[in-house]
Amino acid sequence: MLKTLRGIVQEVNTAGDLKSALDIIVHRVREAMTTQVCSVYLWDPDSSQYVLMATEGLKQDAIGRVRLSSAQGLVGLVGVREEPLNLDDAPQHPKYQYFPETGEEQFHSFLGVPIVHHRRVLGVLVVQQRDRRRFDEGEEAFLVTMSAQLAGVIIHAEATGKINELNQPDKPSKPRKDQQFKGVSGSPGIAIGHAAVMIRSADLDSVPSKKGTGVEIEKDIFQKAVLAVRQDIRNAGAKLADQLRPEEQALFDVYLNMLDDEALGSEVNSLIEDGEWAQGALSRVIKQYEQHFSVMDDPYLRERATDIRDMGIRLLEYMQSAKVEPIEYPSDVILVGEEITPTMLAEVPKGKLQGIVSVEGSSNSHVAILARAMGIPTIMGVQGLPYAKLDGKKIIIDGYRGKVFTHFSDKLLGHFQAIVEEEKELVRELDTLKNLPCETKDNHRMKLWVNTGLMADVFRSLDRGAEGVGLYRTEVPFMIKDRFPTEKEQMHTYREQLKAFAPSPVTMRTLDIGGDKELSYFPIKEDNPFLGWRGIRITLDHPEIFLVQVRAMMKASEGLNNLRIMLPMITGTGEVEEAMRLIHRAFYEVCEEGFHVAMPEVGVMIEVPAAVYQTRELAQLVDFISVGSNDLTQYILAVDRNNARVADLYHSYHPAVLQALKKIAEDAHMEDVTLSICGELAGDPIAAPILLAMGYEILSMNSASLPKVKYVVRNIKYSWAQELLARIMISDCPEVIYSTIELALEEAGILSFIRPQAGIMSNQIN
Ligand code: PEP
Ligand code: MG
Repeated sequence: MLKTLRGIVQEVNTAGDLKSALDIIVHRVREAMTTQVCSVYLWDPDSSQYVLMATEGLKQDAIGRVRLSSAQGLVGLVGVREEPLNLDDAPQHPKYQYFPETGEEQFHSFLGVPIVHHRRVLGVLVVQQRDRRRFDEGEEAFLVTMSAQLAGVIIHAEATGKINELNQPDKPSKPRKDQQFKGVSGSPGIAIGHAAVMIRSADLDSVPSKKGTGVEIEKDIFQKAVLAVRQDIRNAGAKLADQLRPEEQALFDVYLNMLDDEALGSEVNSLIEDGEWAQGALSRVIKQYEQHFSVMDDPYLRERATDIRDMGIRLLEYMQSAKVEPIEYPSDVILVGEEITPTMLAEVPKGKLQGIVSVEGSSNSHVAILARAMGIPTIMGVQGLPYAKLDGKKIIIDGYRGKVFTHFSDKLLGHFQAIVEEEKELVRELDTLKNLPCETKDNHRMKLWVNTGLMADVFRSLDRGAEGVGLYRTEVPFMIKDRFPTEKEQMHTYREQLKAFAPSPVTMRTLDIGGDKELSYFPIKEDNPFLGWRGIRITLDHPEIFLVQVRAMMKASEGLNNLRIMLPMITGTGEVEEAMRLIHRAFYEVCEEGFHVAMPEVGVMIEVPAAVYQTRELAQLVDFISVGSNDLTQYILAVDRNNARVADLYHSYHPAVLQALKKIAEDAHMEDVTLSICGELAGDPIAAPILLAMGYEILSMNSASLPKVKYVVRNIKYSWAQELLARIMISDCPEVIYSTIELALEEAGILSFIRPQAGIMSNQIN
């Protein structure tokens, strides 16, 4: 059963379009269940009807013609009830509706199951038989499992707009509708620009289909890759010749034979002749072969599917690195891809990057954090976006609402252009705050610091009037290297940061890798990376890395003395004591080497629940405490900060998170340590009044948020914020808490300065 299910899903996944996907579904399900009919009805939101999209067993003429409203017929009933309907004699059912064009009068038994994706009914999968008999439990379970797996495939196809095309095959094409996809906001703002689709290195699934630069050129690229891979395989085989048994040696011959196979090569070349580029042609051919082998019953042949894919990736690797000429980025580039990485951002020439759209990830992924630091509108987790087809297309992204518009009318474009203008005006107005102090109307002072990682952040931060650095993510300079940076290299990088801000303090966090922050040269493979080896756990296990880093920081601070050292992912006092020992050791070593440095302040991050309950004990060991609300939210709510599926549940205004923030503040004050917060919440202008009222002295944020947060603080009273805090702390609902603060800011006439009006209007465009 499982084998059949897998086979069907794999086959459906490789279908090029919705029509073939649905045809495969009805054919294979009917065959697997040995029924006379299998049909798929999909919900068409335009007409608010279920439409028969594919069938085997009913008359083909009925496709696209049989339509039922939401509560009509047995299909409508399945949709409304959102559960299977299993009948031995369907025509007897009061809801049964007969459509003469289907020829279904001969079928009696009926089993319909809803196709549900993320609580939304996409359609209904139906099987029918002549005999009057109920489908048994096993059959029902099979169809339910099938439908659950197909939902993802269908949502993707639906996203490409193919449902509409298929529904009305005879109708002339309608005027173009605004077409939008929903994700989550990664960084606010509106961007209008041309999409550049990014391909993950050697990922066959994300190679877009596009026109080649010329048949001979593309054929040559492919041919060179084949020669290079063939050579690699021969070399590998030769190297291991004396260590392998002959039957193991033969494996290399299998690979070589695959490359010699005329069929594979000639199919790639024939697609190139049709105008496709070499990478696209290779990807399509490999996927077809892989699919062909993967559904075979013979386990040996099935295994060949893996070999074919592996071969495809090797070829693709050569093709991608062979592509010597750099990507031509348009002047208004919006990076689009399955997963946009920080390196991809770094590669775009200065001034060209307008926006980012990533199918994977959420607002707390590091790429989104970087984008916020750079002030680049970003949408994350846009599941179902047909991104491979967007290369070179003009698109709009609404970073306030997490929406991407791939097709749009001139009216919509005009609307967003107006917002862009309005935003520029807002930035100019907020710019005037740069040199004004951040204090409330009743003279309560608050410090606004910045989070940095790249040198670009530094210049922008100084420009916006930052008073210090609350979090310098040292892993960023580690990430853009291909080996650990040396003590000297690190010292140079850190000194740039310290110097730029001196005499203001710069808080340098020791290396916080693991979780989702991977170094290509230090791979960590774990089932639960966020609960695994990350942050301080790694650096305490590798004192050589920790000591080099801390020494580099101290040496870099010579003559400046504005360094603070911060420890990430602390769960208990033992870790702090151990880290302190190493820090003191580094200090003496640095002094012995002749550097004249002062012992820096040391602090810990509170970002796991265990640390919340030990705030006082931890505070006794250090000089300052800084809350990492990104991880704290993730760990308190048990919601992966990068998982788009649960992004709706990631809520920093959850009462449990707010209770924790309040407790940390109260405990830190009792121990008289400096208290700051450096997670993304600190840069949310909506959160500013409550963090102020809780007693946070320093908010550290990406520099782009600084003017708006300052605007809020300067326009409220401390006493007003305290009263607001008291009101929200008795609520048990994150949404109510958020809108209570929003409403209070609106009544105070502040909201329109931190969020453009047109941005709010864009929410009404559907
Ligand atoms: C945090 O977790 O809130 C934090 C500031 O650290 P990072 O986002 O780098 O994990
Ligand atoms: Mg963190």
